[in-house]
Amino acid sequence: MHELVLVLNANFEPIHVCSTRRAIGLILAGKAGMVVNGRGHIRTISRLLPRPSVIRLESQVHKPRPRVKLSRREVFRRDNYTCQYCGKREGNLTLDHVIPRHMGGQHTWTNVVAACSSCNHRKGGGKVEEVHMRLLHTPKEPPANASYIFGRHLNENLEWEPYISGW
Ligand SMILES: [Zn+2]
Repeated sequence: MHELVLVLNANFEPIHVCSTRRAIGLILAGKAGMVVNGRGHIRTISRLLPRPSVIRLESQVHKPRPRVKLSRREVFRRDNYTCQYCGKREGNLTLDHVIPRHMGGQHTWTNVVAACSSCNHRKGGGKVEEVHMRLLHTPKEPPANASYIFGRHLNENLEWEPYISGW
């Protein structure tokens, strides 16, 4: 019941993900319809329901365009699990503040990057220029499109792809 379900707005725009339990609740309440199933069935008290993978809300909800929330995991994903100083993919990644926090650097998308532990160590508390290091890319906020936002669930939910692409 904890498998994720993709929720589409009435106009088919993907807006969020919820648990199977919540999706079934929405369907039973008549607030959403099944778009994709194929995950087997769930027995409720009175009936056997196909297990949803994608549902669509019956009425359009107003929802501002979601933004990617800044977190360790999302920074690593934006940076393709690659150290932004040396380009290595192996080893333990850490979160580096390009302008160190003690020098007033902010905890924002444009000031955090993935760094391997040896680059992070080498950089210490210094600024990039001072320690003769260089960033491979200028860090930016990730795009707020559905492919990016829901893309991290795609490996386990390939059937979502056509509902996500293009939004
Ligand atoms: Zn590195």
